[in-house]
Amino acid sequence: MADNKFDVIVIGAGPAGYVCAIRAAQLGLKTACIDAFKGKDGKQALGGTCLNVGCIPSKALLDSSRQFWNLTHNLPAHGISVENAKVDLATFIGRKDKIVKQFTGGVSLLFKSNKVTPFFGTGKLLKGNQVEVTGFDGSRQTLQGANVIIATGSVPIELPFAKFDGKHIIDNAGALDLDAVPGRLGVIGAGVIGLELGSVWKRMGAEVTILEALPDFLGTADQDIAKAAAREFKKQGLDIHLGAKVTRAEVKKNAVEVTYSDKDGEHKLSVDKLLVAVGRRACTEGVLGEGTGVRTDERGRIEVDEHCWTGVDGVWAIGDCVRGPMLAHKGSEEGVMVAELIAGKAGHIDYGVIPWVIYTEPEIAWTGKTEQQCKAEGTPYKTGSFPFAANGRAVAMNEPAGLVKVIAHAETDRILGVHMCGPVVSELIAEAVVAMEFKGASEDLARIVHAHPTLSEVVHEAALSVDKRAIHKAN
Ligand code: FAD
Ligand code: NAD
Repeated sequence: MADNKFDVIVIGAGPAGYVCAIRAAQLGLKTACIDAFKGKDGKQALGGTCLNVGCIPSKALLDSSRQFWNLTHNLPAHGISVENAKVDLATFIGRKDKIVKQFTGGVSLLFKSNKVTPFFGTGKLLKGNQVEVTGFDGSRQTLQGANVIIATGSVPIELPFAKFDGKHIIDNAGALDLDAVPGRLGVIGAGVIGLELGSVWKRMGAEVTILEALPDFLGTADQDIAKAAAREFKKQGLDIHLGAKVTRAEVKKNAVEVTYSDKDGEHKLSVDKLLVAVGRRACTEGVLGEGTGVRTDERGRIEVDEHCWTGVDGVWAIGDCVRGPMLAHKGSEEGVMVAELIAGKAGHIDYGVIPWVIYTEPEIAWTGKTEQQCKAEGTPYKTGSFPFAANGRAVAMNEPAGLVKVIAHAETDRILGVHMCGPVVSELIAEAVVAMEFKGASEDLARIVHAHPTLSEVVHEAALSVDKRAIHKAN
């Protein structure tokens, strides 16, 4: 095969694209992957949003800041005290940068070992499955693919009255790279980024005010879980205003003056930094040349069927640039599915059982339907729940906040959704995902032996509670 001809060309090396490229290469397909991302040092960096300015760096800072917060907020209850605890911010940020480099470099090594050919620059799909690559130096070359997979990800949504300037009004990348703890951090949007990065800087000592347009807190989560989490965030001092419509954000001297209105009228808020985290949009501008036949929807997302096929021979799209939740693991599984379909294997994703995790303290995790969704659909359901406060391990850890809630079909007992808020529920949710993937019933979870004393007993008791037979609480 000529050097510029490939079985598979992937545009974008985020968790959707790079995983797709590796799986395609594993299956014996000659594979190229093009990526345009430049790291903090101005050099090419594989791994996309997730590895560079998303999942991995945010979890690094969440973990460091949690350790610091625990020193003053958790350890005293264990009889441990530390005087004059302080953080060296350069080390705090530097540790995160090292982790990012380790993982982005890891993708390069995986490309090498799997014989994926990387191209650095911008890819554009042309008619006939050709891809034009514009290198960082402006040079151009054209590749030919039997299959082309668009995995160009997403970018932060910018508000017209609060444009990112990288200094005072910042996006996720800016909030992961502050050179000083802001005295006052304003956040627009109490979504996943607002809560995670708001928590990081709150724990580091900032006064954090979060302005959320919607009247309900975390409307996509089960509302029992959202309420339990909101109570804890309030105790931590995260100042969350719901139903707050921001109308202006002006940089004045070294501060941002924010104007917002809620049911009580208009308010002003002055902050040192303003993080705008109001969602992300598909990054598809300039990706499609004339006459490719690939369609985008009203939100700029590439239209695909349930197998991520665009309807054009050999052209597929995966990850944040298509419908569905903007989650790394969702994109990666789509990448695997598409590579396997191209190689003539079966490929399928159960979109109803994708886990969601918010890495706050307590963590929030869920999979399947919420109670409000079951109600709206008219599905007959029953629920069971159990609090971490009645679990020996959680209390021993001094982390008793939160609960697990199981929703099952009222007639068949099949699990419809599992919702959690509490310690390390990011890990506990996997049990619920497995149970649901195997079409399990709440009875199945209730009959599985769970080790004692573990946090997983809360899942067990919540499942028992569906039939009002939890042992360690009144039913
Ligand atoms: P991306 O990761 O966005 O990668 C797309 C890549 O394509 C980028 O490198 C981009 O530069 C490149 N590209 C774009 N256009 C072109 C082009 N024309 N030519 C060549 N290359 C191009 N998700 C989770 O599941 N768990 C988390 O904990 C989590 N935390 C997050 C924290 C933050 C702060 C943010 C912002 C996001 C987080 N996410 C998390 C979401 C997650 O990062 C995304 O869902 C995921 O990165 C999407 O993967 P992707 O491959 O579709 O796109
Ligand atoms: P989001 O959709 O989670 O939250 C945005 C919030 O901003 C919403 O609550 C929305 O109502 C609010 N909002 C929108 N416009 C507003 C306005 N003008 N004023 C005030 N509030 C407004 O989006 P995000 O937090 O930016 O994150 C983007 C996506 O990245 C997430 O949806 C998620 O898919 C992904 N992500 C995932 C994780 C994780 O899995 N742990 C972490 C971070 C990001």
